[in-house]
Amino acid sequence: MNPYLPDRDIYRRARERMVAQQIAARGITDQRVLEAMRKVPRHLFVEEALRDQAYADYPLPIGEGQTISQPYIVALMTEALELKGEEKVLEVGTGSGYQTAILAELARWVYSIERHSRLLERARRVLEALGYRNIFLRVGDGTKGWPEAAPFEAIIVTAAGPKVPEPLLEQLAEGGRLVMPVGDEYSQYLVKVVKRGGTFHRQVLEPVRFVKLVGEYGFAE
Ligand code: SAH
Repeated sequence: MNPYLPDRDIYRRARERMVAQQIAARGITDQRVLEAMRKVPRHLFVEEALRDQAYADYPLPIGEGQTISQPYIVALMTEALELKGEEKVLEVGTGSGYQTAILAELARWVYSIERHSRLLERARRVLEALGYRNIFLRVGDGTKGWPEAAPFEAIIVTAAGPKVPEPLLEQLAEGGRLVMPVGDEYSQYLVKVVKRGGTFHRQVLEPVRFVKLVGEYGFAE
């Protein structure tokens, strides 16, 4: 059976439960975010042996020493971007492509950069099979952003860096929101930056633990 067919989705109930118990119960209220997380088949973004755990309350390995983020963290970061539907969004760290799909449900265009080409090609296959047509993917160092497509109304970095990369701040549109884990290799805080009147307003959300952002404006390998 084609695993991408939406009917007979045995995982749908697991998704409903995930949203109710892990996401809505912890205070995520943006109905569009909750709806997207009920819709996107997260189990297709992990390897077959891990599918039964795809809707559990923790991150999972995706190869290359990387992880797909915990569902609640995906929801928290996505809600913080305040997407209404018409935005151009930049994601740094495509990984499995799961967060990319959530963004594609909620914004007009999604640009996503991943440094590991193997991960990117796998994500590309899944996203194409699911029929997304508003996603642009490329391999590279996302700490430099995607200048040709800037400015972005929202930027999300799904790996942890020592500080917010300067090029990403430059590529944020007026009124735009950026969300990223900032700290050392072992523990970080989610930081939200809003650009208003040409100045950057910073707000700290929650303590988190992400894999390293490796690049020119991130950590050394
Ligand atoms: N959003 C992804 C998270 C993957 S983990 C998901 O839910 O699956 C973070 C990803 O960031 C990893 O795949 C890692 O390879 C990637 N990454 C780290 N530094 C990067 C950089 N400078 N540019 C692009 N991707 C980077």
